[in-house]
This record gives sequence, C-alpha cells and structure tokens, in this order.
Amino acid sequence: MKKINLFIIICFLMSCAAPKKQINANQVIPKSEYANLKIDRPKNIILMIGDGMGLGQITAGMYMNNNCLELERCTNIGIHKSYSADDLITDSAAGATAFASGIKTKNGYLGLDTFGRYVGTIMDKATSKDMATGLVVTSTIVHATPAAFYAHQKDRDNYEDIAKDMLKSNSNLLIGGGQKYFTRRKTDSIDLIQTMIDSGYTVTDYFQNDLEQFTFPEVDKLCYFTADGDPLPVSKGRTYLPLATKKAIQFLKNKRKKGFFLMIEGSQIDWGGHANEADYIITEMLDFNQTIGDVLDFARQDKNTLVIITADHETGGFAINPGSIMGQLKTAFTTKKHTAAMIPVFAFGPGAQLFNGIYENTEIYSKMNALLFYPN
Ligand code: MG
Ligand code: ZN
Repeated sequence: MKKINLFIIICFLMSCAAPKKQINANQVIPKSEYANLKIDRPKNIILMIGDGMGLGQITAGMYMNNNCLELERCTNIGIHKSYSADDLITDSAAGATAFASGIKTKNGYLGLDTFGRYVGTIMDKATSKDMATGLVVTSTIVHATPAAFYAHQKDRDNYEDIAKDMLKSNSNLLIGGGQKYFTRRKTDSIDLIQTMIDSGYTVTDYFQNDLEQFTFPEVDKLCYFTADGDPLPVSKGRTYLPLATKKAIQFLKNKRKKGFFLMIEGSQIDWGGHANEADYIITEMLDFNQTIGDVLDFARQDKNTLVIITADHETGGFAINPGSIMGQLKTAFTTKKHTAAMIPVFAFGPGAQLFNGIYENTEIYSKMNALLFYPN
C-alpha cells in the first residue's frame, strides 16, 4: 500500500515538473491554444487545391518545366494525412469536406458528418462574418471539391441537388462548368438560372462573354459558367484558370471590409491520374502552376493574404521510374484510383508558419478557422 502511495506521489510531482505542453502539429490543436498564438493574421485566404496532386505529380510537373515550380516560392511546408472516416483512401467529397468543415466523413458525403448531419463550412462562416467568398474550378461547379464548400448531400453524384444547394451558398463568385445542371434538369423542370437571377446573381457564360474580353461587372454576386458540362482539358484548348483567377481576386478584393475567402481548384490533375496519362497530369499541373504564380504575385504585393496550396489526395500511384532524365520522364501507375499517400501543404503569407508539420487533413480547416476567426 505504502509503495503504491509513494508511486502516486512521485507521478504527481513529475507531472508538475513536466514542461508546459508545446503546440504540436500532430494533434488537433485546442481552440484555446490557437487563440493564444502570437502570429500575424491574414485578412484574406486563398486555398488552392490541386485535385489528385501528390508529390509524384508535383515532381513530374517540375522536371518537365526546367526543374522549377512556383510552389518553390512558398515559405512553409507541411504534410497532411488524407484518409477519410470510412476509408484509408479518401475520395474528393470527403477530402474537400475535411478542408471546408474540419471533419472526417464518409467517402461520397458532402458537408455532412458520418451520421449524415449537416456541418457548416468555412464559406458559410466567412459570409456570416462579412467576408466575400468565391470558387474557381476547372471541373463543373457542382463537382465534389467545390460542392463540399456549399452543399450538404450524401451522394456527390446528385449534381442537380447540389446545384440547388449552390443557390443557398450566397457565394459572391462562382466560376466553373456544369451549366446543364441549372438549365436542362432531369429531376425537375426548374430554371435554376432564373432562380439565381431572382436571388441577386448576375449569371453569364463562355458563350455570351469570352473571358478575355469580359470585364466583371461591379455586382455583389456573379456566376460565370465556363462550360455546359465538364470544361476541356488544357491539352484540348482550355486556358481560363489563370485568367479567371486574376479576375476573381480583383472582383473579391475590395468587396467586403473584412476580406475574402477564395478556393481555386486545379480539378483535372486528378482526371489525368484516373486516365493513367502522364501528359494529362503534367499539362494540368503546369496550368495550375501558372495560376499559383499569379496568386503568389498578388499575395506578395497585398501582404494581407495567406495562400495555402495542397491536394485532397494522390491519384494513380504516379511514379517516376529509372531511365527518366530531366525533361523526359519514364512514368508508371499502380492504380486507376486514388491512393493513401500523405499530401504536401505549401503556405505563403501571414499565418503560413502554422502549416508546418504533419497533421490531419481536417487541420487545414482548423488552422484557417483560427487565423480568420479567433480573437487575437
Ligand atoms: Mg475535384
Ligand atoms: Zn479522383
């Protein structure tokens, strides 16, 4: 008995002597610790998601681009664990829900927890705190990655229901494909474009207004469709992402006193992985790279913008094999699906140091949330 008492006393003394807990990026950081962080806060956040962009994709893009990428300008680098709630290999719906809402959910779910309960998104929060918000993607605007930022659905393929959810998002700027889910609906005959106009959106498309010539009107809410269905790959002539991104930043920049949140997706890096086509991956990767360069140029000048660049998961088990040389790669794939590889996170701007370390994908949300919304 005495021995046990002594043991307890020693343990108690040791715990008192233990140094104060350091912030460890491996753990979910409690709210109180984030609130006490003495770091610069950004006014704006630009989150850039290269869908399916693992280190293999990044490396291939770099070696096929004279050994350089805009990503190299980022000052802080971390790694996230991409798995979802029900699968070691996430899909884009669960992956983007982790970023948008800070929870791990089931593959296929958007903006819902594993029980199917509604979870709020960082875009909702930004809107409620009087920030402007926007989404710019090279897939349809109702595809899983952008949808996770505004939709609440159990099936990521319910594009027409997701389109309805988009109207409730109140996002100031929406740029992407998929106009047909608004105009020629199969599950009902609602003219969603008219509904959008009725709720205050200016709606236009690539057919009415070529992006090069199109000056974004000074309106509160704008939706620009880049395609009826899926936008083209870069290799078939799509060029809009860098330009749309620049215009999006200008559009959102002074819209609200409290700043803006913008998500930009290089959607088709993933599609190159699914197709097991190295050229598809590389051309999409370099288009995304150019966009990253433009965003970093803005952030460097602005000084109040945090840029975070990451992926939801890796696609294809994409490898660069022996026999490769700079500018000429021998590539291989292990699968036509996603893989479980950990994913790099690159950050630049105020708060970037918070993205160092190894952490869960949900922490991307927690860190953004803390930087934007916790009091200093
Ligand atoms: Mg995607
Ligand atoms: Zn995919």
